[in-house]
Amino acid sequence: MNAKTLLGMDLPALRGLAEEFGEPSYRGLQLFESLYKQRVEDVAQISTLPSSLRAKLASDGYSLGAPRIDSKFQSIDGTVRYLIACSDGQTVESVWMPEGDGGESADGTEAGDEIDTPSRSRRRATICISSQIGCAVDCQFCLTALLGVKRNLSVGEIVGQVGAILRDQQVSPPEDRVNLVFMGMGEPFLNYDNFMKAVRLLVEGVGIPESRMTVSTAGIVPRIFDFGAEPVRPKLAISLNASNDVLRTELMPINRKWDLRALIDAARAFPLRPRERLTFEYVLLDGKNDSPENAREVAQWIRGLRAKVNLIALNPGPGIGFQTPSQERVETFQKILRDADIPTFVRRPRGRDIYAACGQLKRTIELIGPSEITLEKQT
Ligand code: SAH
Repeated sequence: MNAKTLLGMDLPALRGLAEEFGEPSYRGLQLFESLYKQRVEDVAQISTLPSSLRAKLASDGYSLGAPRIDSKFQSIDGTVRYLIACSDGQTVESVWMPEGDGGESADGTEAGDEIDTPSRSRRRATICISSQIGCAVDCQFCLTALLGVKRNLSVGEIVGQVGAILRDQQVSPPEDRVNLVFMGMGEPFLNYDNFMKAVRLLVEGVGIPESRMTVSTAGIVPRIFDFGAEPVRPKLAISLNASNDVLRTELMPINRKWDLRALIDAARAFPLRPRERLTFEYVLLDGKNDSPENAREVAQWIRGLRAKVNLIALNPGPGIGFQTPSQERVETFQKILRDADIPTFVRRPRGRDIYAACGQLKRTIELIGPSEITLEKQT
């Protein structure tokens, strides 16, 4: 990877860079705006800078370092899965879900809190982005786990996924309402510093409010505490996925390190903002973790927390040894939680036909029959 990449640098760093080149520090602000507000695709497009400075940046080895769209797959439900290439040739996946919440909040409510009147000309969508190439957490029901972890994404590569998709879809926050979920490939809390730096640039530079962002963790407990202390942070979702330690350790080996007691204690200690709720995600695996008894155990853990539960019926995939439960089992599970006064919603799968749904991101085109997709090679 090129260490001298501009994308990912914050305003103080860009001001410092300008000064290093003997330029006034306001050039740093111009760089910042070009990178994050205008979202230029290369240094030559930064028209506010004198061409001498652009030349100096280039001769000193600076490049933009923006990841590029390699290909995209369009689902019948409007979801688009992007395969995005980093400068070292590694690829990562991000997902565009037009209209509303993309099933993230699952209950039809918006991710943010402000009320506004949607205008016909403005777009709403949710973008799901990745934090690592592959994943080390090894959850038994998730396709990304089959890759193992290749490396962390840099700050620029995290922000750059959003930039590339906004450009491709021709939308621009804050006028267009964009929700962001850090729920793609990887475990954001195992790439914590880059993830948080990216969040700050997305808020301050790109203009997506933190109230429209949600990060999901498999349960890296010490980072949940760090995250709670952040002055600017997305909302928190926790992948619960099992109702007791025996089951959770089998499905999510990370549970050996931080068990349910530790996880729920961290959730209880998490400082919520006014009106904010935690989300617990629970992937339902037929006959494995989806019985009425499992639902009652979940209710025990969550009781008294300001939280909601998003149920996700398993999105299947090759090499995943579990089945999707019937609608009836999902509804029974939901009813038990609701009867225990826990707001519980069923997340609507998006882009299953193109392997874009939760747990299906695996950087592959081989997985899918060509008849099921529209593949658009970018040039
Ligand atoms: N690593 C983080 C971020 C990924 S979020 C985390 O685990 O939270 C992706 C969500 O999809 C998680 O809640 C995960 O439990 C869920 N998931 C994984 N595989 C799935 C599958 N095959 N079907 C449905 N949901 C799945």
